[in-house]
Amino acid sequence: MAKVCFVPAQGTLAAYLTGEIDHHAAQALRREIDAQIDARMPELLTMDFSGVTFMDSSGVGLILGRQRCARSLGGTLRIQPCAACWTWRISITFDRGGGHIMKMLNQVKMTFASRSVNESFSRAALAAFLAQADPTVPQLADIKTAVSEAVTNCIVHAYPDTVGPITMTAVLYEGGNVRITISDKGVGIPDVAKAMEPMYTTGNPDERAGLGFAVMQSFMDRVHVSSAPGRGTRYHEPSPGFPVSFGVCAPT
Ligand code: ATP
Ligand code: MG
Repeated sequence: MAKVCFVPAQGTLAAYLTGEIDHHAAQALRREIDAQIDARMPELLTMDFSGVTFMDSSGVGLILGRQRCARSLGGTLRIQPCAACWTWRISITFDRGGGHIMKMLNQVKMTFASRSVNESFSRAALAAFLAQADPTVPQLADIKTAVSEAVTNCIVHAYPDTVGPITMTAVLYEGGNVRITISDKGVGIPDVAKAMEPMYTTGNPDERAGLGFAVMQSFMDRVHVSSAPGRGTRYHEPSPGFPVSFGVCAPT
């Protein structure tokens, strides 16, 4: 659970954030920070993320929106990064076990409602399942971030005005290979290539950074997305050393 504490001073406001920042947590943080900005009109707003233990692109949206807010009042924003902030990963190769068909060892499938409180549930449930494959802490952190992005997209974009089902499947293969599929039956994406461009968003610019797909592609070996308007969406990706195929799946 994320929290924010404020330390106001002459012309400045420091916001100290702690805990896990996803779409669910960002909504409350945004309200609290904006209320403080409105009340105090600081010349300098500092957002300190050093107590943050998890952050997906909703945290970036939180920063960009607050920067816009501070600037509109003639102020500036300074960021103190978090220890657990993303290390962007490039050049990832997917080892498919020397070209052999991988043997499946275990699998799990779950369906949950598109409520933002389920973002942390889905990451935690997947991490618990993957523990049997003995991933490293950074590998698990990357996978949890990618999953959080996909689940958040289903909650925010697939079902903008309603609550619908999200299905997450994880299949564990020999050699630590994992395939994750996340599917919705929502509005779909009319132009997948456009949607995957970094900084592209149809969401509220005060909340969204348009970086979710970029995060998934950076953290995982491969991302495949398929979608049809009104029929849901699908992505896939595998990660290094502990390869992952990850997806937000098309409708069945
Ligand atoms: P951020 O992830 O930084 O908070 P974002 O969600 O808008 O912002 P992406 O995750 O990269 O950015 O998604 C880009 C766009 O793709 C979204 O704005 C939305 O239009 C579309 N999109 C993504 N996932 C879905 C989905 N499951 N259903 C419908 N549209 C989607
Ligand atoms: Mg997103």
